[in-house]
Amino acid sequence: MKLTVTLPNHSYDLTIEKGLLSSIGEWAETLWNPQKIVVITDKNVEKLYGEKVLESLNASHFEATLIAVEPGEQSKSLMVAATLYDYLAEQGLTRSDGVIALGGGVVGDLAGFVASTYMRGLHFLQVPTTLLAQVDSSIGGKTAVNTSKAKNLVGTFAQPDGVLIDPLTLNTLEKRRVREGIAEIIKSAAIADKQLWNRLEELANEKDLLTHSEDIIAACCRIKRKVVEEDELDNGVRLLLNFGHTIGHALENTAGYGVLTHGEGVALGMSKINQVAEEKGQTKSGTTEELNQMIQKFNLPITTDHWKEDEIFEALTHDKKTRGGNINIILLEEIGTAKIVKIPIEEMKEYIN
Ligand code: NAD
Ligand code: ZN
Repeated sequence: MKLTVTLPNHSYDLTIEKGLLSSIGEWAETLWNPQKIVVITDKNVEKLYGEKVLESLNASHFEATLIAVEPGEQSKSLMVAATLYDYLAEQGLTRSDGVIALGGGVVGDLAGFVASTYMRGLHFLQVPTTLLAQVDSSIGGKTAVNTSKAKNLVGTFAQPDGVLIDPLTLNTLEKRRVREGIAEIIKSAAIADKQLWNRLEELANEKDLLTHSEDIIAACCRIKRKVVEEDELDNGVRLLLNFGHTIGHALENTAGYGVLTHGEGVALGMSKINQVAEEKGQTKSGTTEELNQMIQKFNLPITTDHWKEDEIFEALTHDKKTRGGNINIILLEEIGTAKIVKIPIEEMKEYIN
């Protein structure tokens, strides 16, 4: 299945196809024609898929090599980026050559950043292998690395030449990683797609969702595409994708490193903000019940022992999305539609109480 992302300066296809990875060389040939390719991945993904991908690329007309970083968020750093620039230079890559990001959101953000800055940008494909990356991070052209001061502090807007999604790669993903993606899927459906929501309601559990992964991923890609086409540079509707995230991020930080996953933080954030919005009459009544049921069905939390209001508020005010004493929050009108509401930062306390 193919979807085209159409932007003023650059259009590209998202291809979703089970088994695509085995013939990635042929797929890549339909999209671009660099000679040299560097595949950037992490060591887990390298073990699982590195050889297969290199073989297929080299069986096509590419001259491909691979470099694998340590798995995990700490690889999204300027230091790791620097080692990748060196590697690209050692391989003799020039602006007519290409990079493939093979992995989850970490690899996608890091490799995207490197590809868009090395020699002021070379060709670049996203090949996402986690559910989160397939439904969210590989689409839309945001790249970034973290610094010691903040997550995603340094980055670019750089659209890839294409996104190649093989849902079969999800078969090797740990369950808790699958849930990371499901939190984003619930978010996407809640803010923009009642039809997808209804489909999710029909599913029994995570396993059932993976059986139908191709359709679900495609639905999420359509949502992300629409938002990105309307607001490539994140000044307007793209903010809707932050539903549950402002509180979620703060909670992830205050709970302590590794205590809550991103997906858990987002699930808790969505549930809480929606509950308060419903109590305030800003969201259609009954929405929280629907949302909570969906979150719990996929084994994500709606309550936590780590809820410390003061600390969460403190963390929120340090978030980079806080500007000029106001904060943008995302509220559901009802399941399937959302709005951006600007409130004074102090008022945020009401939404975390
Ligand atoms: P990740 O990239 O760390 O991957 C999670 C783990 O799964 C890693 O250990 C990885 O090695 C492993 N893995 C990957 N594919 C696998 C597979 N098929 N089988 C088995 N194991 C596999 O994490 P993530 O959740 O994919 O991405 C999180 C990152 O995405 C964060 O850094 C976040 O900031 C970023 N992000 C970016 C955007 C964007 O628009 N650019 C949007 C959302 C999130
Ligand atoms: Zn997220």
